[in-house]
Amino acid sequence: MKMLIAGKWVDKKEKIDVKNPYDGSIIDTVPDGDAKDVDRAIASAEEGYRINRNLPVHERIRILLGAARIVEEKAEDFARTIATEGSKTIREARKEVARAVHTMTISAEEARRIAGETIPFDSMPGSENRVGYYFRFPIGIIAAITPFNDPLNLVAHKLGPAIAAGNSVVLKPATVTPLSAIKLGEALMEAGLPANVLNIVTGYGVKIGDPLVSDPRIRMISFTGGVEAGERIVKMAGLKKIGMELGSNTPVIVCEDCDLDKAVELSVSGAFWAVGQNCIGVQRIYIEQGIYKRFETLFVARTRQMKVGPQLEEDTDMGPMITEGEAERIERWVEDAVKKGAKVLTGGKRKGSAYDPTVLADVPAGCTLDKEEVFAPTVNLYPVKDLDEAIAKANDVKFGLHAGIFTQDINKAFKAIRELDVGGVIVNDSSDYRIDMMPFGGVKRSGLGREGIKFALQEMTEPRVVCFNL
Ligand code: NAP
Repeated sequence: MKMLIAGKWVDKKEKIDVKNPYDGSIIDTVPDGDAKDVDRAIASAEEGYRINRNLPVHERIRILLGAARIVEEKAEDFARTIATEGSKTIREARKEVARAVHTMTISAEEARRIAGETIPFDSMPGSENRVGYYFRFPIGIIAAITPFNDPLNLVAHKLGPAIAAGNSVVLKPATVTPLSAIKLGEALMEAGLPANVLNIVTGYGVKIGDPLVSDPRIRMISFTGGVEAGERIVKMAGLKKIGMELGSNTPVIVCEDCDLDKAVELSVSGAFWAVGQNCIGVQRIYIEQGIYKRFETLFVARTRQMKVGPQLEEDTDMGPMITEGEAERIERWVEDAVKKGAKVLTGGKRKGSAYDPTVLADVPAGCTLDKEEVFAPTVNLYPVKDLDEAIAKANDVKFGLHAGIFTQDINKAFKAIRELDVGGVIVNDSSDYRIDMMPFGGVKRSGLGREGIKFALQEMTEPRVVCFNL
């Protein structure tokens, strides 16, 4: 596939292979973009900003709904692309496509509601003869940088609100999964998005990241990815708006009074969805000691039922990790934890890029598996004496994106809601619950700002005050 610059699909001699992570087969190529391509894309986006901010809102709505319809009509093709370039199974990929359609549709709906309000200027003595208001205006060119794990919907989360608000975009998708993003770009162009409003540059973040994020013509960086790249981007960005959706090592708390079967089922799903490569995927489960053994037994039994295999087979429950290197990394992390005293209850085996769903107990505090984001199909079980200990341990990390708690006791639920240091608390489900219109984002090293269309629209616009001196 090609890059999109100034309304043209551009190819290059230098290419990057896009591979199926299961067997390493090459499924397509994309151009290996460089700083010159970035410069051209930004120049195009300057023109795109002038065009889109002057498009009537009903026209932006028409385009976004049109793109949503195209994705819906080609849903199976999109799902196969996600499940071939990435880790997700075809069943997981279909759900992502449905969510991306929803994300684009909500973006169109919210475009109607980008409004301001009147200002009571006469509240200040001396301003009796003034009237006015503020409205929200688009901020300019947005650099959108996206990760591999939701290669379609996380792109929609940036393009939808950016276009709805009247901005232009230079998108840099993850190098391992650029195809879904390019297809969404095609859908937008087919729906009538004017040339220049969206530009897509494919290429390695280490090569094109700095010229993109440091360019003063870019007014906002909307980044979803890991902390390391996020920190580099913040250092390089200079004076511009920044949205950071980063990682976590997400906790779930299981209280003695919970519905145990539900807690097991939903936590297994939350731990191994998308091979655990999920920013709100369950990584640390704190279980009150009275039910620890029963929970452990049921959790391990349910995990063992998961079938690992090629993404496109309908009965595969879990696909491969995104690269063999990533599978080797988690293998090393598990070996390190085991050396320090952890016990593998099930899993712990790697075959190429596939790593079995893995459950560990006795993971020592402070080892990598405990304190870093695993972004892999491993989960740690910890017994705790009570909710206070669970909350203290859940909070004792540098991240804070989502947390889950299973309890029937409303007082325990509210205590967790008050005391957990996170961007979202999910009660009676795993941390892995999200819909696309809710505010989504983290505290501490999990990020800055919020996505979720209405909230992204706030970040992607600024208020402009108008005052009449009568
Ligand atoms: P990543 O390695 O940080 O890459 C994310 C994106 O940043 C990719 O497009 C990457 O390009 C680009 N990039 C890398 N270095 C860059 C630089 N110096 N300047 C500019 N761009 C750069 O993350 P990933 O492995 O794709 O995704 C996993 C991470 O994303 C996890 O930490 C996960 O928790 C996080 N995540 C967060 C959310 C959320 O909403 N909070 C959602 C999903 C994922 P290349 O592909 O070319 O390296």
